[in-house]
Order: sequence, then C-alpha cells, then structure tokens
Amino acid sequence: MVTFPAKVIEPIGRFLRREEKKLVKRKKEITKADPFEDVRRLSDNAAADADAAEQVGHERARAMRDQVDRKLIQVKKALTRIKIGKYAICEKCGQMIDTDRLMIMPETTVCIKCEKKKEK
Ligand SMILES: [Zn+2]
Repeated sequence: MVTFPAKVIEPIGRFLRREEKKLVKRKKEITKADPFEDVRRLSDNAAADADAAEQVGHERARAMRDQVDRKLIQVKKALTRIKIGKYAICEKCGQMIDTDRLMIMPETTVCIKCEKKKEK
C-alpha cells in the first residue's frame, strides 16, 4: 500500500492543527457576534424591525457557524487519519486520494470519485 512519507505528512499535520485552532477561535467569534447569544437582549422588547434584523443576524451567524463546524469536523477527521497512518487514503473506497486534491483541500478524507457520488 502506498502511503505518504512522514516528511510530507508532518507539515500537513502541523497545518491542520493550526487550522483547527483557527476554526475554534472563529466559532467563538461568530457565537459572540450572534445577537441571540447575547443574553442581555433576551429581556429587551425592541421594535419589530429590530427583531427582524436580529433574526437575520442570527441566521447568518448560524449558517457561518455550521460552515465552520463542518470544516472543523473535517480537519479533526484528517488529523485522526494522520494519527492512524491512513492520511490520503479514501475512507470510502480505500484508494489513494489525488495529491492535487489534497493540495487544495488537505482536510479531505475522501477521493474525488466518492465525493461526487456523495453529492448525487
Ligand atoms: Zn474513494
């Protein structure tokens, strides 16, 4: 079975751990910016349009947080794959993931073929 040499995996692992920290921080920032997370506003009987604005802000914050969450899960998965020595091997079909794909998305754990299958 073909695997990446440690000297290639190591910097990827470092990069992914940095990404993980960044994403955790980003998630905290989004949570802080979410008007619904601000407990002081819970007792605030603001005008209806202000509520609408908060609703939009909340929806946006939630969408952003979901996006960060998904990426974070993916980064953690990739780090686990490194730990068990299965980085760059598709978790679905067991084939090597294209290196070009890994360059763009180092956190990916599935090959392009399986990714396309999933989208269908
Ligand atoms: Zn695959």
